[in-house]
Amino acid sequence: MSILQVASFAAGQWIAPNASARQIDCAITGAPFAQAGNDMLNVQAMLDHARTKGGPALRQMTFHDRARLLKALALHLRAHRQALYDLSFHTGATQTDHLIDIDGGIGTMLVYASKGRREMPDSTVYPDGDPEQLSRNGSFLGQHICTPLQGVAVHINAFNFPVWGMLEKLAPTLLAGVPAIVKPATSSCYVTEHCVRLMLDSGLLPDGALQLVSGGLGDMLDHLTCQDAVSFTGSANTALKLRATPAILQNAVRFTAEADSLNASILGPDATPGTPEFDLFITEATQEITTKAGQKCTAIRRILAPESHIEAVGEALRQRLSNIKIGDPRAKETQMGALVSGAQKADVLAKAALLATECDTLLDTSDALNDAKGAFVAPMLFHCTSPDTAIHAHETEAFGPVSTLMGFRDIDHAIALANKGQGSLVTSLITHDTEVARHIALGCAAFNGRIYINNRDSMAEATGHGAPLPHMTHGGPGRAGGGEELGGIRAVTHYMQRTAIQGSPDMLSSITGKWLPGTTQEQAPAHPFTRRFGELQIGETLHTPSREVTLEDVEHFAHFTGDTFYAHMDEAAAARNPFFPGRVAHGYLLLSFAAGLFVEPNEGPVLANTGLDALRFMKPVVPGDSIKVALTVKQKTIRNEDYGEVRWHVHLSNQDDDAVAEYELLTMVAF
Ligand code: NAP
Repeated sequence: MSILQVASFAAGQWIAPNASARQIDCAITGAPFAQAGNDMLNVQAMLDHARTKGGPALRQMTFHDRARLLKALALHLRAHRQALYDLSFHTGATQTDHLIDIDGGIGTMLVYASKGRREMPDSTVYPDGDPEQLSRNGSFLGQHICTPLQGVAVHINAFNFPVWGMLEKLAPTLLAGVPAIVKPATSSCYVTEHCVRLMLDSGLLPDGALQLVSGGLGDMLDHLTCQDAVSFTGSANTALKLRATPAILQNAVRFTAEADSLNASILGPDATPGTPEFDLFITEATQEITTKAGQKCTAIRRILAPESHIEAVGEALRQRLSNIKIGDPRAKETQMGALVSGAQKADVLAKAALLATECDTLLDTSDALNDAKGAFVAPMLFHCTSPDTAIHAHETEAFGPVSTLMGFRDIDHAIALANKGQGSLVTSLITHDTEVARHIALGCAAFNGRIYINNRDSMAEATGHGAPLPHMTHGGPGRAGGGEELGGIRAVTHYMQRTAIQGSPDMLSSITGKWLPGTTQEQAPAHPFTRRFGELQIGETLHTPSREVTLEDVEHFAHFTGDTFYAHMDEAAAARNPFFPGRVAHGYLLLSFAAGLFVEPNEGPVLANTGLDALRFMKPVVPGDSIKVALTVKQKTIRNEDYGEVRWHVHLSNQDDDAVAEYELLTMVAF
């Protein structure tokens, strides 16, 4: 079989490996399979290409344009995923593993495509939080905004997720408007290379938005500036080395690290053998030890159970793990494939030998696989009988199907042991006891990026201890690298600069594209409900006439709706209430009257009222008061080709111009 030549994509050109290329073996057969690397790669030209071509092209697009781009890319990858599956078998991964890596990566991209359109504006500026009033009368405000970095994101990935590892970083980066140079780990880079080819061949990406380094990165990191960012996933040792690059330190280049993690899973004291939680604990631990042959940063390395149940847990795990079918990942019956390489196998066996020096071995049948040519190892289970003094059990990450069981006396002891991981990506807890959950979650939260709690109530739908979700932060303190990825739109802002903008409401409104309190309100040229989405201008306002609110109105509304709360019906009781001078109008009556004042009844471009946000009643309205409304276009968001969402600021005031209520009204308006 010919050796696969894994190319790099640099400054618009595919560059084949040269004599410096590294050899990559097939994980299943151990035979040479591919080669990657070219030491003549012009890294400065790549950085320039990203900064001068990719960045400007992406920054011209709005968040919604970029979200649509992500969706199209994800759908294109999904249509061609079989080719990725076929290649990925050679990394030792099974079809179930592909669903996590390949389908999981595509799914992550789709989540960002959807979140980008739902949670970000159709503009190039992302307002972060609400405006801050910095002056007494509101003529000087502050607003945080995020804008894309004007450099390039260098993504350095670990070998275990050649597709997800790339896409989970790429999706938020492109959504932010920043070009990326991806550098996959060499041992599985042929899968990433094919995925990059698919994306580039789709013709969807602007020139310079995505480049690829297969093999060594050369001295690229020495050329980074404060407008660049490095997102690294891999071992703590490599993270330490790269983060200490002088240019990264001197130029304060953003450096995010996702590194080793000795994640724990804790069995609650209530989850005795025979309970659904006990079985669930065994199932989750088995899955985490065997999925991707244990080559998962989130895998359970430390299994913590009450001392009284250690034997039962050990026996149940031994039985489940001994029955795992190990073999060629392409075979349907195979449940666990190979490690990525012979080198990885040697590393795992060496680390397991270290664990064996301080733990009892409960299961290790790897000798039976010694004749196999590929990088196969069997699940290994250790029992640490002195978890308070053990070192390797809490510090040595055997990045394969290896886990250590340890007993705890009580939940405070469980917390202390879990936290001996010195910073983890995730700790899971299987319990049906809310007090145990609260105690352990609060005791472990500072040492973890994620805490996963599961029991009989959630197990049918729970997403699994080891699954980082695009919606939730992935990363962890200390040993886990101290970085954060994913977590919804938070990940997008990692590739943007947050800037505090200070100025008058008109200035801030013009920069954010959003109406802010105090911005000049332009009189609408016609009733805004008669104007189409494209015609409505931010800040245009309808001022309605006044309407008196009478006692008859209040009584009619009370009897009509059934809301005869004493504050509306009983003068003496209402007056005893510290909030009211006497009987007051219902807040909901005011909202209804407001709608009566501002709606235009005829069929027109306003299609539907989809909700209210941020409703506040500021001053009671008593019978005899009158109210009027100022209805202002606050923000416009395109939803599809037919209509968009218009967010209106609605301000109700009384005859003295005192504010009585405020809210945001959401409507869908036709183009
Ligand atoms: P690794 O050996 O540290 O390599 C990680 C990446 O760094 C690879 O792309 C590697 O490229 C690159 N690299 C190494 N030296 C470099 C240098 N001098 N300059 C530039 N790049 C360099 O880790 P790995 O073996 O691929 O992955 C396994 C480790 O990753 C485990 O420890 C695991 O816990 C961790 N991991 C963490 C997460 C997480 O999210 N926290 C996820 C997955 C894996 P080459 O392959 O070309 O050397």
